[in-house]
Amino acid sequence: MREADRDTLTQRTAEALVQTRRAVALTGAGVSIESGIPPFRGPGGLWEKMDPMEVAHIDAFRRDPEKVWKLLIEGMQAVLSVARPNAGHVGLARLEQLGYLQSVITQNVDGLHQAAGSRDVIEFHGTFAWQRCQNCGSRCKTGQVDLSRIPPRCSCGGIYRPDCVFFGEMIPPQHLARAHQLVARCDVLLVVGTSATVQPAAMMPLLAKESGARVIEINPEPTPLTGRVSDYFIQGGAGAVFNDILVCVEDFHAPGAHRHAPR
Ligand code: NAD
Ligand code: ZN
Repeated sequence: MREADRDTLTQRTAEALVQTRRAVALTGAGVSIESGIPPFRGPGGLWEKMDPMEVAHIDAFRRDPEKVWKLLIEGMQAVLSVARPNAGHVGLARLEQLGYLQSVITQNVDGLHQAAGSRDVIEFHGTFAWQRCQNCGSRCKTGQVDLSRIPPRCSCGGIYRPDCVFFGEMIPPQHLARAHQLVARCDVLLVVGTSATVQPAAMMPLLAKESGARVIEINPEPTPLTGRVSDYFIQGGAGAVFNDILVCVEDFHAPGAHRHAPR
């Protein structure tokens, strides 16, 4: 993509956000890559090293929680505990603060949207920040779980599991229902850092499009949505693209700014 194209699309995106005020974002693993969290798929992804059905399926966890803790959960905890929000997360939080973004629907479990200041975050796949006792259901912050014994246990003797959605488990229906509602009513859907291959998140852009929203994709690589569902494809990393979008949005937003978003 030529630089001019990207500038134009960035400008149009900023205008659409400022004009409509009814935007929603759908994010995936890509938005957290610049925070040092590797994706699961693709080059360097976790699934190159291990089989998801062996380590991230609920049946695997039930069969051998010690193995899943050692192969998957401990490693993820080590990465997530030091990860900090990047300019992509910060940009989305700022858009919410300015009143231009309603909610973030994320497939991520890293808590970085909230750490950046986003308030309305729908975590489709739950969160890794908390553990839940399989026996009594009580929750404990992941950083406070005693890892001297694997798998860690609650005071009731039950085994802790991350409060996220494993393969083979259902997305909490209330999250799905709210996401559907938001996406069906939004005017702009920002699709950031997701390969749009995992359902049901992957159908959200289609739903938005059918409901008349503009779908704006931000990703360094094209996806199955590109050129078909997406109205704009802004090619680039989330951090750099959101820095650019925010410069334009703040320009429109600033009181007395000489340039205004056209009506
Ligand atoms: P994915 O791994 O299938 O795709 C990642 C996408 O990010 C790709 O399209 C890639 O081109 C893009 N990308 C790469 N660098 C980027 C950048 N700098 N900025 C923006 N985009 C970039 O991710 P997915 O669609 O979210 O599906 C993965 C599943 O794995 C999700 O369901 C999620 O729950 C889980 N997951 C979560 C985390 C996390 O919490 N951070 C990390 C890995 C996987
Ligand atoms: Zn318990």
